[in-house]
Amino acid sequence: MSIIIKGIAASSGIAIAKAFRLENPELIVEKIAVTNTDQEVERFEQAIETSKSELEGIKEHARKELGEDKAEIFSAHLLVLSDPELINPVKDKIKHEQVNAEFALNEVATMFVNLFETMDNEYMKERATDIHDVTKRVLSHLLGVTIANPSMISEEVVIVAEDLTPSDTAQLNRKYVKGFTTDIGGRTSHSAIMACSMEIPAVVGTKMVTNDIENGVLVIVDGLEGKVIVNPTEDVVKIYEDKKAVYEAQKAEWAKLVNEPTLSSDGHHVEIFANIGTPEDVKGVLENGGEGVGLYRTEFLYMGRDTLPTEEEQFEAYKTVLKRMEGKPVVVRTLDIGGDKELLYLNLPKEMNPFLGFRAIRLCLEMQDMFRAQLRALLRASVHGNLKIMFPMIATLDEFRQAKAILIEEKEKLQAEGTTVSESIEVGMMVEIPSSAVMAHLFAKEVDFFSIGTNDLIQYTLAADRMNERVSYLYQPYNPAILRLIKNVIDAAHKEGKWVGICGEMAGDEIAIPILLGLGLDEFSMSATSILRARNQILKLSKAEINLVIEQILNMTTSEEVERFVKDIFIKPKSFSV
Ligand code: PEP
Ligand code: MG
Repeated sequence: MSIIIKGIAASSGIAIAKAFRLENPELIVEKIAVTNTDQEVERFEQAIETSKSELEGIKEHARKELGEDKAEIFSAHLLVLSDPELINPVKDKIKHEQVNAEFALNEVATMFVNLFETMDNEYMKERATDIHDVTKRVLSHLLGVTIANPSMISEEVVIVAEDLTPSDTAQLNRKYVKGFTTDIGGRTSHSAIMACSMEIPAVVGTKMVTNDIENGVLVIVDGLEGKVIVNPTEDVVKIYEDKKAVYEAQKAEWAKLVNEPTLSSDGHHVEIFANIGTPEDVKGVLENGGEGVGLYRTEFLYMGRDTLPTEEEQFEAYKTVLKRMEGKPVVVRTLDIGGDKELLYLNLPKEMNPFLGFRAIRLCLEMQDMFRAQLRALLRASVHGNLKIMFPMIATLDEFRQAKAILIEEKEKLQAEGTTVSESIEVGMMVEIPSSAVMAHLFAKEVDFFSIGTNDLIQYTLAADRMNERVSYLYQPYNPAILRLIKNVIDAAHKEGKWVGICGEMAGDEIAIPILLGLGLDEFSMSATSILRARNQILKLSKAEINLVIEQILNMTTSEEVERFVKDIFIKPKSFSV
């Protein structure tokens, strides 16, 4: 029977393929007495061998598809499987205590994991993770349970999972992974943002895909309308194939706008920039006609590794982005770690409310060595392009002043050492905390620009966790409270002759775009894949016409009212709908 599941459209496009469930099965280990211990040891050895050949295969696959560095994770796993310090005590335990292999392995591995985890040494902590992962693999063979591995996927699939971490998403192979859908997450969760930059259609926050979709059934992910269709009939598949073709044709039409400026139908000029996470993303920015980088999320440089990146490594990354952008503006955001982006190697204590906790600029102002290294790398790279620096999560004027003072100190130090630093670096801040949006008139005197981070601004204004789909009804970009805050920021900046961008997902949102144009936003920064659609939309909008109704929109009472109004007046009906 065919069913339709509704979710949040996180990355546009249509995918039609078989479901591949990515899950972590529960491995229940019981203690069982054995009499034939030789046979039990043999069973253990067999499971080790199977795991080894499985890992060899995964490693080879990862090397080809994802590169040497990702494949190294599996070399570490293979080392654990050959380590007599782990293997021999398990065999001894089976023989001396006459217990089953699962129990013996679990006991020995847990002992090592606990031991290594408590050590104040990053390397040993990493080994604990390796032992944990490898033990899971061997246990799954002993227990006859299959664990899925995304890097082994070798046919076209749609991934179905409870959730995907940003690093899971990074390992997905675009060639085979046609789409994904998850139970949890919102449009601004980082896995969704990465799906967008990888151009993988995705529907997230469905609450129930893992409940309703079995491995191997045919599914359609409609990343345009936020729907997942399970077991579609032939007729529905045909409709979606057509819808996919229309979408592709539309994309081809938009492609003609790559080198065009972004002007409204009555000649009002705005700029469309792109959000990036790595230097590799620049290619997509240029291919999609991005006029600059409006947000370089530098935290990805710090993630997926064991130690902080060095100043030199960072310098290379920033220089690469600046050079590849060939003089176009590049707004680099300093480290915004925390919230859903953890850095295990910093060993920070767990917090009750990580999104309200020790994160971003708060952490950088305290861990100054780390912050200064990033600033130095940026300042040194500044001569290679058009660099702008912004600080994330600024709540008070004092934080902005402190961050800027540290930047100036580092600049002066570098100059004293004889290093050339660009004299035209603009220094701005993200507006993502209501206190700074309300007090924008004060900040506007001290910053060179604002970039409004609506993903967080919405979550903090409506007090609704952006990751929690149960409160996603409160995640309202068109709520007049949000629109008024944005207006306040834009007006305050313009009064001081400063420019304002938005780098949250709202900047690329079809319904938000007419409103933001009406509010006078100067720069829209979005995922590269949204640029041409947005440019096409703006070309057809008249700023003068929007100006006539903007007051009316700001005076509306609900998000729904705003949405209905904008849809009725400014959004052309879609040429396809299923
Ligand atoms: C934002 O908060 O809108 C933003 C762009 O930052 P991030 O999504 O990385 O928190
Ligand atoms: Mg943010």
